[in-house]
Amino acid sequence: MPARGQKRGVRTTAVHGGEVPDPNTGASAPDITMSSTFVQDEPTGFSFASAGDEPQFIYTRWGNPTVQMLEQKLAALEGGEACAAFASGMAATSGLLLSELTAGDHLVISEVNYPGTAELARSTLPGLGIEVTPVNTAEPERVRDAMRPTTRLVWVETPANPVLRLTDISAVADIAHEAGAALAVDSTFATPIATRPLELGADFVVHSLTKYIGGHGDAIGGAVIGSAGAIASLTGNALVHHGGILSPFNAWLIARGAATLPLRMAAHEAAAKEVATFLEAHPRVLRTLYPGLASHPQHDLARRQMDNFSGMISFRVAGGAEAARELVGKLRLIHHAVSLGHHRSLIYWIDTEELAAETYRLQGEALARFRDEAGEGVLRLSVGLEDAADICPDLDQAL
Ligand SMILES: *Cc1c(COP(=O)(O)O)cnc(C)c1O
Repeated sequence: MPARGQKRGVRTTAVHGGEVPDPNTGASAPDITMSSTFVQDEPTGFSFASAGDEPQFIYTRWGNPTVQMLEQKLAALEGGEACAAFASGMAATSGLLLSELTAGDHLVISEVNYPGTAELARSTLPGLGIEVTPVNTAEPERVRDAMRPTTRLVWVETPANPVLRLTDISAVADIAHEAGAALAVDSTFATPIATRPLELGADFVVHSLTKYIGGHGDAIGGAVIGSAGAIASLTGNALVHHGGILSPFNAWLIARGAATLPLRMAAHEAAAKEVATFLEAHPRVLRTLYPGLASHPQHDLARRQMDNFSGMISFRVAGGAEAARELVGKLRLIHHAVSLGHHRSLIYWIDTEELAAETYRLQGEALARFRDEAGEGVLRLSVGLEDAADICPDLDQAL
Protein backbone atom coordinates (compact mmCIF):
# COMPACT_ATOMS: atom_id res chain seq x y z
CA MET A 1 0.00 0.00 0.00
CA PRO A 2 1.23 3.53 -0.68
CA ALA A 3 2.03 5.67 2.37
CA ARG A 4 -0.82 7.90 3.54
CA GLY A 5 -1.43 10.75 1.13
CA GLN A 6 0.92 9.29 -1.44
CA LYS A 7 -0.78 8.78 -4.79
CA ARG A 8 0.03 5.71 -6.83
CA GLY A 9 1.16 6.08 -10.42
CA VAL A 10 -1.42 5.73 -13.16
CA ARG A 11 0.00 2.45 -14.45
CA THR A 12 -0.12 0.94 -10.97
CA THR A 13 -3.69 2.20 -10.53
CA ALA A 14 -4.75 0.73 -13.87
CA VAL A 15 -3.36 -2.69 -12.91
CA HIS A 16 -4.31 -2.88 -9.21
CA GLY A 17 -7.30 -0.48 -8.85
CA GLY A 18 -10.34 -2.37 -7.50
CA GLU A 19 -8.51 -5.73 -7.55
CA VAL A 20 -7.59 -7.93 -4.57
CA PRO A 21 -6.51 -11.58 -4.60
CA ASP A 22 -9.50 -13.89 -4.10
CA PRO A 23 -9.82 -14.41 -0.31
CA ASN A 24 -11.05 -18.03 -0.76
CA THR A 25 -8.68 -19.36 -3.41
CA GLY A 26 -5.81 -16.88 -3.48
CA ALA A 27 -6.37 -16.43 -7.24
CA SER A 28 -4.25 -13.51 -8.36
CA ALA A 29 -6.41 -12.72 -11.42
CA PRO A 30 -9.97 -11.58 -10.67
CA ASP A 31 -12.81 -14.10 -10.89
CA ILE A 32 -16.04 -13.47 -12.77
CA THR A 33 -19.00 -13.73 -10.42
CA MET A 34 -21.72 -14.86 -12.82
CA SER A 35 -24.44 -15.06 -10.19
CA SER A 36 -27.69 -13.13 -10.42
CA THR A 37 -28.46 -13.61 -6.73
CA PHE A 38 -26.55 -13.98 -3.45
CA VAL A 39 -27.42 -16.12 -0.41
CA GLN A 40 -28.54 -13.98 2.55
CA ASP A 41 -28.18 -14.56 6.31
CA GLU A 42 -31.11 -12.33 7.19
CA PRO A 43 -34.21 -11.24 5.24
CA THR A 44 -33.61 -7.90 3.45
CA GLY A 45 -36.11 -5.33 2.18
CA PHE A 46 -36.97 -4.86 -1.48
CA SER A 47 -36.35 -1.11 -1.49
CA PHE A 48 -32.88 -0.05 -2.65
CA ALA A 49 -33.23 3.06 -0.46
CA SER A 50 -33.55 0.96 2.73
CA ALA A 51 -30.64 -1.32 1.74
CA GLY A 52 -28.42 1.53 0.52
CA ASP A 53 -25.74 1.29 3.22
CA GLU A 54 -25.58 -2.50 3.39
CA PRO A 55 -22.22 -3.67 2.08
CA GLN A 56 -23.28 -7.22 1.16
CA PHE A 57 -24.42 -8.34 -2.29
CA ILE A 58 -28.11 -9.21 -2.70
CA TYR A 59 -28.98 -9.25 -6.40
CA THR A 60 -26.75 -8.38 -9.35
CA ARG A 61 -28.93 -5.47 -10.56
CA TRP A 62 -28.18 -3.86 -7.16
CA GLY A 63 -24.49 -4.70 -7.25
CA ASN A 64 -22.07 -7.44 -8.28
CA PRO A 65 -18.47 -8.11 -7.15
CA THR A 66 -16.99 -8.16 -10.69
CA VAL A 67 -18.85 -5.00 -11.71
CA GLN A 68 -17.79 -3.36 -8.43
CA MET A 69 -14.14 -4.22 -9.15
CA LEU A 70 -14.39 -2.38 -12.48
CA GLU A 71 -16.23 0.56 -10.87
CA GLN A 72 -13.47 0.93 -8.26
CA LYS A 73 -10.76 0.76 -10.92
CA LEU A 74 -12.46 3.47 -13.01
CA ALA A 75 -13.10 5.72 -9.97
CA ALA A 76 -9.41 5.42 -9.05
CA LEU A 77 -8.27 6.23 -12.62
CA GLU A 78 -10.50 9.35 -12.77
CA GLY A 79 -9.66 10.45 -9.21
CA GLY A 80 -13.35 10.23 -8.26
CA GLU A 81 -15.03 8.89 -5.12
CA ALA A 82 -17.36 6.44 -6.86
CA CYS A 83 -18.47 5.02 -10.20
CA ALA A 84 -21.62 3.43 -11.60
CA ALA A 85 -21.15 1.03 -14.55
CA PHE A 86 -23.86 0.66 -17.19
CA ALA A 87 -24.77 -1.69 -20.06
CA SER A 88 -23.50 0.85 -22.64
CA GLY A 89 -22.27 4.41 -22.98
CA MET A 90 -25.79 5.45 -23.97
CA ALA A 91 -27.25 3.71 -20.87
CA ALA A 92 -24.80 5.77 -18.77
CA THR A 93 -25.73 8.94 -20.68
CA SER A 94 -29.51 8.46 -20.49
CA GLY A 95 -29.23 7.24 -16.90
CA LEU A 96 -27.42 10.41 -15.82
CA LEU A 97 -29.60 12.81 -17.83
CA LEU A 98 -32.86 11.24 -16.62
CA SER A 99 -31.67 11.12 -13.00
CA GLU A 100 -30.40 14.71 -12.88
CA LEU A 101 -33.20 16.35 -14.88
CA THR A 102 -36.96 16.46 -14.47
CA ALA A 103 -39.84 18.36 -16.13
CA GLY A 104 -39.21 22.11 -16.00
CA ASP A 105 -35.40 21.75 -15.79
CA HIS A 106 -33.06 23.15 -18.42
CA LEU A 107 -30.00 21.48 -20.00
CA VAL A 108 -27.18 23.26 -21.86
CA ILE A 109 -25.33 20.89 -24.20
CA SER A 110 -22.59 20.99 -26.85
CA GLU A 111 -24.15 21.69 -30.30
CA VAL A 112 -21.88 19.02 -31.85
CA ASN A 113 -21.24 15.71 -30.07
CA TYR A 114 -21.89 11.95 -30.17
CA PRO A 115 -25.00 11.42 -32.36
CA GLY A 116 -26.84 9.20 -29.85
CA THR A 117 -26.46 11.84 -27.13
CA ALA A 118 -27.41 14.66 -29.54
CA GLU A 119 -30.60 12.89 -30.63
CA LEU A 120 -31.56 11.93 -27.06
CA ALA A 121 -31.22 15.59 -26.05
CA ARG A 122 -33.18 16.93 -29.01
CA SER A 123 -35.89 14.25 -29.37
CA THR A 124 -36.47 12.48 -26.05
CA LEU A 125 -35.80 15.08 -23.34
CA PRO A 126 -38.12 17.84 -24.66
CA GLY A 127 -40.95 15.26 -24.77
CA LEU A 128 -40.48 14.84 -21.00
CA GLY A 129 -40.75 18.60 -20.41
CA ILE A 130 -36.98 19.15 -20.14
CA GLU A 131 -35.77 22.23 -22.03
CA VAL A 132 -32.53 21.88 -24.01
CA THR A 133 -30.24 24.57 -25.43
CA PRO A 134 -27.40 23.38 -27.72
CA VAL A 135 -24.47 25.84 -27.81
CA ASN A 136 -20.90 25.94 -29.08
CA THR A 137 -19.19 24.97 -25.82
CA ALA A 138 -15.79 25.62 -27.46
CA GLU A 139 -16.61 29.24 -26.56
CA PRO A 140 -17.33 29.24 -22.79
CA GLU A 141 -19.09 32.63 -23.03
CA ARG A 142 -21.82 30.96 -25.11
CA VAL A 143 -22.47 28.66 -22.17
CA ARG A 144 -22.77 31.66 -19.84
CA ASP A 145 -25.26 33.33 -22.21
CA ALA A 146 -27.40 30.18 -22.32
CA MET A 147 -27.70 29.72 -18.53
CA ARG A 148 -31.16 30.22 -16.98
CA PRO A 149 -32.43 30.05 -13.39
CA THR A 150 -33.76 26.54 -14.23
CA THR A 151 -30.47 25.24 -15.70
CA ARG A 152 -29.57 22.14 -13.68
CA LEU A 153 -26.91 20.59 -15.89
CA VAL A 154 -24.29 21.52 -18.50
CA TRP A 155 -23.14 18.62 -20.74
CA VAL A 156 -19.97 18.81 -22.79
CA GLU A 157 -18.00 16.29 -24.81
CA THR A 158 -14.29 16.94 -25.32
CA PRO A 159 -12.76 16.17 -27.77
CA ALA A 160 -16.17 16.06 -29.49
CA ASN A 161 -17.27 13.69 -32.20
CA PRO A 162 -16.68 13.99 -35.17
CA VAL A 163 -14.62 17.18 -35.64
CA LEU A 164 -12.58 16.97 -32.41
CA ARG A 165 -13.76 20.32 -31.09
CA LEU A 166 -12.50 20.91 -27.54
CA THR A 167 -14.17 22.51 -24.52
CA ASP A 168 -12.24 24.24 -21.73
CA ILE A 169 -13.51 22.15 -18.81
CA SER A 170 -12.39 24.40 -15.93
CA ALA A 171 -13.84 27.54 -17.57
CA VAL A 172 -17.20 25.85 -18.19
CA ALA A 173 -17.20 24.30 -14.68
CA ASP A 174 -16.89 27.79 -13.16
CA ILE A 175 -19.76 29.10 -15.32
CA ALA A 176 -22.00 26.13 -14.46
CA HIS A 177 -21.29 26.36 -10.72
CA GLU A 178 -21.82 30.15 -10.57
CA ALA A 179 -25.31 29.50 -11.98
CA GLY A 180 -25.99 26.62 -9.55
CA ALA A 181 -25.76 23.90 -12.21
CA ALA A 182 -23.62 20.75 -12.38
CA LEU A 183 -21.17 19.91 -15.19
CA ALA A 184 -21.02 16.50 -16.89
CA VAL A 185 -18.15 15.71 -19.29
CA ASP A 186 -18.26 12.87 -21.84
CA SER A 187 -14.54 12.09 -21.83
CA THR A 188 -14.69 8.96 -24.02
CA PHE A 189 -12.24 10.32 -26.65
CA ALA A 190 -9.79 11.62 -24.02
CA THR A 191 -9.78 8.80 -21.41
CA PRO A 192 -8.38 9.48 -17.89
CA ILE A 193 -4.88 9.16 -19.37
CA ALA A 194 -5.38 12.45 -21.27
CA THR A 195 -7.75 14.43 -19.06
CA ARG A 196 -9.26 14.05 -15.59
CA PRO A 197 -12.36 16.27 -15.71
CA LEU A 198 -13.15 15.93 -11.97
CA GLU A 199 -9.77 17.52 -11.14
CA LEU A 200 -10.73 20.42 -13.45
CA GLY A 201 -14.02 21.04 -11.59
CA ALA A 202 -16.52 18.79 -13.40
CA ASP A 203 -19.13 17.00 -11.28
CA PHE A 204 -19.56 13.91 -13.48
CA VAL A 205 -17.36 12.09 -16.00
CA VAL A 206 -19.13 9.86 -18.53
CA HIS A 207 -17.46 7.12 -20.57
CA SER A 208 -18.41 4.71 -23.28
CA LEU A 209 -16.28 1.81 -22.02
CA THR A 210 -16.79 0.23 -25.44
CA LYS A 211 -14.04 2.48 -26.77
CA TYR A 212 -10.52 3.05 -25.33
CA ILE A 213 -11.15 1.80 -21.79
CA GLY A 214 -12.25 -1.68 -22.90
CA GLY A 215 -9.98 -1.21 -25.87
CA HIS A 216 -10.39 -4.52 -27.71
CA GLY A 217 -13.66 -4.13 -29.60
CA ASP A 218 -15.34 -7.04 -27.82
CA ALA A 219 -17.56 -5.57 -25.09
CA ILE A 220 -20.07 -2.72 -24.85
CA GLY A 221 -20.30 -0.81 -21.57
CA GLY A 222 -20.59 2.64 -20.01
CA ALA A 223 -19.78 4.43 -16.76
CA VAL A 224 -20.36 7.60 -14.76
CA ILE A 225 -17.83 8.73 -12.13
CA GLY A 226 -18.51 11.39 -9.48
CA SER A 227 -18.98 12.01 -5.75
CA ALA A 228 -20.09 9.12 -3.52
CA GLY A 229 -23.46 10.77 -2.79
CA ALA A 230 -24.26 11.56 -6.43
CA ILE A 231 -23.26 8.07 -7.61
CA ALA A 232 -25.35 6.40 -4.85
CA SER A 233 -28.44 8.24 -6.06
CA LEU A 234 -27.56 7.48 -9.71
CA THR A 235 -27.20 3.79 -8.82
CA GLY A 236 -30.65 3.78 -7.20
CA ASN A 237 -32.38 5.61 -10.04
CA ALA A 238 -30.59 4.60 -13.17
CA LEU A 239 -29.29 1.09 -12.41
CA VAL A 240 -31.70 -0.41 -9.86
CA HIS A 241 -34.84 1.24 -11.31
CA HIS A 242 -34.11 1.75 -15.05
CA GLY A 243 -32.16 -1.51 -15.00
CA GLY A 244 -29.43 -0.94 -17.64
CA ILE A 245 -26.70 -2.77 -15.69
CA LEU A 246 -23.40 -4.06 -17.06
CA SER A 247 -23.03 -7.83 -17.27
CA PRO A 248 -20.28 -9.23 -14.97
CA PHE A 249 -18.67 -10.89 -17.99
CA ASN A 250 -18.38 -7.56 -19.83
CA ALA A 251 -17.13 -5.91 -16.61
CA TRP A 252 -14.38 -8.54 -16.46
CA LEU A 253 -13.39 -8.03 -20.11
CA ILE A 254 -13.39 -4.24 -19.72
CA ALA A 255 -11.35 -4.38 -16.48
CA ARG A 256 -8.79 -6.56 -18.24
CA GLY A 257 -8.62 -3.98 -21.02
CA ALA A 258 -8.42 -1.07 -18.56
CA ALA A 259 -5.31 -2.58 -16.91
CA THR A 260 -3.29 -1.74 -20.04
CA LEU A 261 -5.00 1.62 -20.78
CA PRO A 262 -1.94 3.80 -19.95
CA LEU A 263 0.33 1.71 -22.21
CA ARG A 264 -2.21 1.54 -25.02
CA MET A 265 -2.92 5.29 -24.94
CA ALA A 266 0.79 6.06 -25.26
CA ALA A 267 0.94 3.77 -28.32
CA HIS A 268 -2.31 5.13 -29.84
CA GLU A 269 -0.99 8.69 -29.46
CA ALA A 270 2.44 7.90 -30.91
CA ALA A 271 0.93 6.21 -33.99
CA ALA A 272 -1.76 8.91 -34.39
CA LYS A 273 0.88 11.66 -34.40
CA GLU A 274 2.70 9.91 -37.25
CA VAL A 275 -0.51 9.24 -39.18
CA ALA A 276 -1.79 12.83 -38.68
CA THR A 277 1.54 14.26 -39.87
CA PHE A 278 1.44 11.96 -42.92
CA LEU A 279 -2.17 12.95 -43.75
CA GLU A 280 -1.55 16.68 -43.30
CA ALA A 281 1.30 16.54 -45.85
CA HIS A 282 -0.67 14.44 -48.39
CA PRO A 283 -1.72 16.37 -51.54
CA ARG A 284 -5.15 14.65 -51.68
CA VAL A 285 -6.02 15.56 -48.08
CA LEU A 286 -7.75 18.93 -47.72
CA ARG A 287 -7.70 19.19 -43.95
CA THR A 288 -6.53 17.10 -41.01
CA LEU A 289 -8.04 17.65 -37.57
CA TYR A 290 -5.99 16.25 -34.69
CA PRO A 291 -5.58 17.98 -31.29
CA GLY A 292 -1.86 17.13 -31.31
CA LEU A 293 -1.17 19.03 -34.55
CA ALA A 294 -0.14 22.69 -34.28
CA SER A 295 -2.78 23.38 -36.99
CA HIS A 296 -5.67 22.29 -34.72
CA PRO A 297 -7.68 25.48 -33.99
CA GLN A 298 -7.53 24.75 -30.24
CA HIS A 299 -4.04 23.24 -30.04
CA ASP A 300 -3.12 25.51 -27.09
CA LEU A 301 -6.12 24.29 -25.09
CA ALA A 302 -5.26 20.71 -26.08
CA ARG A 303 -1.76 21.19 -24.68
CA ARG A 304 -3.13 22.59 -21.43
CA GLN A 305 -5.95 20.11 -20.93
CA MET A 306 -4.70 16.85 -22.49
CA ASP A 307 -1.69 14.87 -21.25
CA ASN A 308 -2.13 12.61 -24.29
CA PHE A 309 -3.66 13.67 -27.64
CA SER A 310 -5.39 10.28 -28.05
CA GLY A 311 -5.75 8.36 -31.30
CA MET A 312 -8.69 10.06 -33.07
CA ILE A 313 -8.10 11.92 -36.34
CA SER A 314 -10.71 13.42 -38.68
CA PHE A 315 -9.69 14.34 -42.22
CA ARG A 316 -11.26 15.58 -45.44
CA VAL A 317 -10.30 14.41 -48.92
CA ALA A 318 -10.64 16.13 -52.29
CA GLY A 319 -13.72 14.82 -54.12
CA GLY A 320 -16.03 14.66 -51.08
CA ALA A 321 -18.38 11.76 -50.38
CA GLU A 322 -17.68 9.86 -53.59
CA ALA A 323 -13.91 9.96 -53.15
CA ALA A 324 -14.26 8.99 -49.49
CA ARG A 325 -16.42 5.97 -50.39
CA GLU A 326 -13.83 4.88 -52.95
CA LEU A 327 -11.04 5.32 -50.43
CA VAL A 328 -12.61 3.14 -47.72
CA GLY A 329 -13.27 0.44 -50.34
CA LYS A 330 -9.55 0.25 -51.16
CA LEU A 331 -8.26 -0.10 -47.59
CA ARG A 332 -6.67 -3.47 -46.79
CA LEU A 333 -5.59 -3.13 -43.16
CA ILE A 334 -7.90 -0.50 -41.70
CA HIS A 335 -11.44 -1.75 -41.13
CA HIS A 336 -14.34 0.32 -42.48
CA ALA A 337 -16.49 0.17 -39.34
CA VAL A 338 -18.06 2.45 -36.75
CA SER A 339 -16.75 2.65 -33.18
CA LEU A 340 -13.28 3.67 -32.02
CA GLY A 341 -10.56 3.13 -29.45
CA HIS A 342 -9.98 -0.51 -30.36
CA HIS A 343 -6.60 -2.15 -30.89
CA ARG A 344 -7.59 -2.40 -34.59
CA SER A 345 -7.60 0.77 -36.72
CA LEU A 346 -11.14 1.74 -37.77
CA ILE A 347 -12.35 4.38 -40.23
CA TYR A 348 -15.80 5.73 -41.03
CA TRP A 349 -17.20 8.33 -43.40
CA ILE A 350 -19.40 10.89 -41.61
CA ASP A 351 -21.57 12.90 -43.98
CA THR A 352 -22.04 16.55 -42.97
CA GLU A 353 -25.47 17.34 -44.40
CA GLU A 354 -27.22 14.33 -42.89
CA LEU A 355 -25.61 14.81 -39.48
CA ALA A 356 -26.21 18.58 -39.43
CA ALA A 357 -29.86 18.29 -40.51
CA GLU A 358 -31.11 15.09 -38.83
CA THR A 359 -28.98 14.75 -35.72
CA TYR A 360 -27.73 18.22 -34.72
CA ARG A 361 -30.47 20.26 -36.45
CA LEU A 362 -27.96 23.05 -36.99
CA GLN A 363 -28.98 26.35 -38.54
CA GLY A 364 -27.44 29.73 -39.37
CA GLU A 365 -24.13 30.44 -37.69
CA ALA A 366 -23.91 26.97 -36.06
CA LEU A 367 -24.40 25.26 -39.43
CA ALA A 368 -21.80 27.50 -41.08
CA ARG A 369 -19.33 26.72 -38.28
CA PHE A 370 -19.82 22.96 -38.66
CA ARG A 371 -19.57 23.11 -42.49
CA ASP A 372 -16.36 25.10 -42.15
CA GLU A 373 -14.80 22.33 -40.02
CA ALA A 374 -16.32 19.26 -41.66
CA GLY A 375 -16.76 20.31 -45.31
CA GLU A 376 -18.94 17.76 -47.13
CA GLY A 377 -17.97 15.23 -44.50
CA VAL A 378 -15.02 13.78 -42.64
CA LEU A 379 -13.30 10.44 -42.53
CA ARG A 380 -13.07 9.67 -38.81
CA LEU A 381 -10.04 7.51 -38.20
CA SER A 382 -9.40 5.68 -34.94
CA VAL A 383 -5.70 4.85 -35.08
CA GLY A 384 -5.16 1.40 -33.59
CA LEU A 385 -2.14 -0.35 -32.15
CA GLU A 386 -0.69 -1.55 -35.46
CA ASP A 387 2.63 -0.09 -36.65
CA ALA A 388 2.24 3.41 -38.08
CA ALA A 389 4.65 2.14 -40.76
CA ASP A 390 1.82 -0.16 -41.92
CA ILE A 391 -1.12 2.23 -41.38
CA CYS A 392 0.31 5.12 -43.46
CA PRO A 393 1.02 2.98 -46.58
CA ASP A 394 -2.52 1.52 -46.37
CA LEU A 395 -3.93 5.07 -46.44
CA ASP A 396 -1.44 6.12 -49.12
CA GLN A 397 -2.40 3.34 -51.58
CA ALA A 398 -6.11 4.17 -51.06
CA LEU A 399 -5.79 7.98 -51.32
C1 LIG B 1 -19.66 5.49 -28.45
C2 LIG B 1 -19.89 6.75 -27.71
C3 LIG B 1 -21.00 6.89 -26.86
C4 LIG B 1 -22.04 5.80 -26.71
O1 LIG B 1 -21.49 4.64 -26.16
P1 LIG B 1 -22.07 3.14 -26.45
O2 LIG B 1 -21.18 2.32 -25.60
O3 LIG B 1 -21.95 2.90 -27.91
O4 LIG B 1 -23.50 3.15 -26.01
C5 LIG B 1 -21.14 8.08 -26.16
N1 LIG B 1 -20.24 9.08 -26.30
C6 LIG B 1 -19.18 8.98 -27.12
C7 LIG B 1 -18.23 10.14 -27.23
C8 LIG B 1 -18.97 7.82 -27.85
O5 LIG B 1 -17.91 7.73 -28.66
